[in-house]
Amino acid sequence: MSEEDLPSPEELLTYGEDLLLRWQEHDLLDSIEMRGNRRMRTRAGVAYLVSRRIELNPRLLAQNPEMVHECFAHELAHIVVYARHEKKARAHGKEWRSLMRQVGFEPEAVHYMDVSAFRTRRRSPRRRRLWA
Ligand SMILES: [Zn+2]
Repeated sequence: MSEEDLPSPEELLTYGEDLLLRWQEHDLLDSIEMRGNRRMRTRAGVAYLVSRRIELNPRLLAQNPEMVHECFAHELAHIVVYARHEKKARAHGKEWRSLMRQVGFEPEAVHYMDVSAFRTRRRSPRRRRLWA
């Protein structure tokens, strides 16, 4: 699959809204930002927990398109856990695993190595970007 065939960031944000509703996390609606990052090499995705931004690796995911939604949910669950517990919860701890199971994914952390608590400046909410 080519990168152009991946779900658009906008489609993934719509999917994310569905996940947030299922997680009863209405406060985060409209505050999530998503973009592709072609500079990522081995990671499928990263979650910037404070700025609530998800970056996914379009080159890697184009080779594993069946993973796109799970990867997005994986990163979004990190943002939800951080919003609820800040540093009191472990990255792939029981709170995160529970969220993943709630939306039908077997919690699986090993493929990702993805969490970043870097404090990046907050951007305007839901700025939409292309993958490239
Ligand atoms: Zn993770």
